[in-house]
Amino acid sequence: MKLPVYETFHSWQGEGCHLGRSAFFIRLFGCPVHCPWCDSAGTWHPDFVPEKIERMEVETLAKQAAEASPEFVVITGGEPTIHDLAPLTTALRDHGLPAHLETSGAFPLRGDFAWVTVSPKWQKAPLPDCLARADEFKLIVEDQTSIPRWVEAIGEHFGEKPVWLNPEWSQRETPAVLDAITGWVKAHGAPFRAGWQMHKHYRADATDARARPDASLAD
Ligand code: SF4
Repeated sequence: MKLPVYETFHSWQGEGCHLGRSAFFIRLFGCPVHCPWCDSAGTWHPDFVPEKIERMEVETLAKQAAEASPEFVVITGGEPTIHDLAPLTTALRDHGLPAHLETSGAFPLRGDFAWVTVSPKWQKAPLPDCLARADEFKLIVEDQTSIPRWVEAIGEHFGEKPVWLNPEWSQRETPAVLDAITGWVKAHGAPFRAGWQMHKHYRADATDARARPDASLAD
């Protein structure tokens, strides 16, 4: 079975509970969610899509990942769950690699995942089953209203699972956004945690030549 692949690379997980751990990334092509601030626009936006997107056998992807000897593999996108990921997670498991998933939660999950990060988006509502399966949540904080709006919309699903509050990258130096995160964590404590995209500071993904340039890091 083949999947359309935007890029693969070996780096480390730059966000969430597995921050700093060696990870192999498989970024699949395609996303119908269309967030206005998307930092993976090359996976879907006509202005940024590369000329050629390779369709790769899942076994080839699993072998590539295994050669890197990471602690786990992150399947991301785009929105990876628009594809049936079961053959890929099976191939990864056969190589002894746990599969982590990063998803908006807007489509049914198909595959066997050791860890699921749900980062909901306003453009397409997350499904209850995806919210229930999440091991952690990542809320993108665009402005001061983001956190209370998400809590109102899906807060009942959080329980004790970590809820990361990440500044939307283009707003990472906006005091009102950072203060909103700090204020919320100080006022509410668990399950909320202040988050960051640490790998971008390190430019860690770019250390693997297979990674495509990250447009959000352009100076
Ligand atoms: S869901 Fe993710 S990949 Fe899709 S448009 Fe939004 S930020 Fe970009």
